[in-house]
Amino acid sequence: MDKTAENRWTASDAESLYRIREWGNGYFHVEDTGEVHVKLNRDNRASSISLMKIAKGLQERGLKLPVLLRFSDILDDRIRFINETFLQSIKDAGYKGTYRGVYPIKVNQQQQVIEEITHFGRQYHHGLETGSKAELIAALAYIDDPGAYVICNGYKDEEYIDLALRGRSLGIQTVLVIEMPSETEVIIERARELGIDPIIGIRMKPSTTAGGHWTESGGDRSVFVLNTTQVISAVDKLKNEGMLQCLKLLHYHLGSQIPNIHSIRIGATEAARFYTGLVHEGAPMGLLDIGGGLAVDYDGSSTNTGSSRNYSMKEYCDDIVEVVMVNCNEAGVEHPVIISESGRALVAYYSVLLLNVLDTNTFGSSTSPDEIPEDLRGAVENLLYVRRTLNEKNAQECLNDLNYYREEIRTKFLYGSVNMRERALAEHMYWSIMADIYEISRGKDYVPPELKNLEHHLSDIYYGNFSVFQSLPDVWAIDQLFPIMPIHYLLHKPERNAILADITCDCDGKIDKFIGRSEIRHTLPLHTPPDDEDYILGVFLVGAYQETLGDLHNLLGDTNVVSVTYDEHGSAVLHHELDGDTVADVLSYVEYDPKKLEALVRMKAETAVREGKITPQQRRKIITAYNAGLRGYTYYETDQED
Ligand SMILES: *Cc1c(COP(=O)(O)O)cnc(C)c1O
Repeated sequence: MDKTAENRWTASDAESLYRIREWGNGYFHVEDTGEVHVKLNRDNRASSISLMKIAKGLQERGLKLPVLLRFSDILDDRIRFINETFLQSIKDAGYKGTYRGVYPIKVNQQQQVIEEITHFGRQYHHGLETGSKAELIAALAYIDDPGAYVICNGYKDEEYIDLALRGRSLGIQTVLVIEMPSETEVIIERARELGIDPIIGIRMKPSTTAGGHWTESGGDRSVFVLNTTQVISAVDKLKNEGMLQCLKLLHYHLGSQIPNIHSIRIGATEAARFYTGLVHEGAPMGLLDIGGGLAVDYDGSSTNTGSSRNYSMKEYCDDIVEVVMVNCNEAGVEHPVIISESGRALVAYYSVLLLNVLDTNTFGSSTSPDEIPEDLRGAVENLLYVRRTLNEKNAQECLNDLNYYREEIRTKFLYGSVNMRERALAEHMYWSIMADIYEISRGKDYVPPELKNLEHHLSDIYYGNFSVFQSLPDVWAIDQLFPIMPIHYLLHKPERNAILADITCDCDGKIDKFIGRSEIRHTLPLHTPPDDEDYILGVFLVGAYQETLGDLHNLLGDTNVVSVTYDEHGSAVLHHELDGDTVADVLSYVEYDPKKLEALVRMKAETAVREGKITPQQRRKIITAYNAGLRGYTYYETDQED
């Protein structure tokens, strides 16, 4: 590489290339050392920690990549941010009610997350939202604050309802949200039976559709919601049973990752109209729950697209407060407590996945004609001719010829007039000439459409030590984009363009969409991996929805997990180590018995000894290796100092 060009590449160039300033939200940046740092804040003390240092520290302790890092200080900062922004908007607007957040457990159910939110969030009375019995059971144990709400959504059987009601006796503000018409009756019945006054909510169906990937749960197709007629009949039923005084909350949820502030305003307006309607019906109300949907700017573009949003937290809070206030004032109704159920916006920044690159497959490396053995030249003569004549003006023509001659060689191979070595050479030359054509046509004013697609075909493949299905299920399921970049070597200009393949043997086990300046990129700029150490990539903003949706494709299990905080000197403290699944773990998930597997192999080896195929010493080695494999990590293990 040209030394001077290399010298010109700085941390700031890397920051703009990977757009880390835009999506990093102040939590992640590139330090002058060329490494990605995470910035953590606690009690007015800040620390900036190198992810590479953390990765090295883990490897020294024998913990292998891939590893999921969790930063509880970031989670705390997010909780602080949403609460203080809402409180500020309330103050600015002269709104008379207050704000209470509830965290939807399904977004990241890890015990650590629930513990952190209920503990740190206590000062803001941040509560929890549950969508199932299991989540409610976790919530009842962790909520310890009479000022916080537990919003109970989801399908409710008697047991779920009873648990929520008994929570009331423990001094917890559980709210039973009616999402299906039949629930009204059961709630009334169970409340009477247990002699406990419920706090009842109604979940309405907004007619607003919000756009983006995740919005099917809003609009007409939602399963868990009451339409307008059903809202009215629920009110009538409560009235008839003399329980209208228990109706205190109106809830709606437009969907997740809502990119457009306009939909948010319309949704809130419609809900505010329902809210005042319910007050006029005689319900005491007091709580308006606006659901989740507050989006994360994954690509840093601040635009109205699926991976971004066209509004800030302050604008979101201002708009909600204003819409609710204006509508309540017009209707002469007291300002309610605004509850929001933001999940993604709270936890996305909290986790980072670190993975090492295991191997690369590079295309388009040139073969010079004199490297071609004499006896093979005849077969690729035409290809050599294409390469000789290629120039700026005839690129398209050369591309056509190239495809024609490759087809010809493949046909000859089928009929036996071209042998395997000749065909292999031809295929290799084909790609190297393709790369030349791409180089020549790149950056021209007019590039023919066939040539435009070349970049994708010519990209390198980097094999990362991870499974998309286990660690980034939304990449596979809904084409979600996450920021991905190397966490070191950032004082060097990346010279390759690659897609990222995982180690499942699945053709869907790859990432070929990356965040770009104004559009999706199909390749990621990366460095040639160094020979003497791991080349490590970070996948960022993976704290929401990725951890428990993952599956055991090819029996690749949970990754190692480490929580990171910092001490009074600002150095990283690694704790809460969770070992990822071993091979024995994942095999037992699909009902193999590791002991039995071991016994079967022992027996097989014993038979082999008896038959004189191996010695008893060899048998011992085979069994040791088998057991080590069974106890090992499901990911690719590189030998390090252990
Ligand atoms: C999933 C869900 C949320 C969380 O939405 P985010 O977009 O992650 O904030 C909130 N409320 C309900 C009812 C949900 O189903």
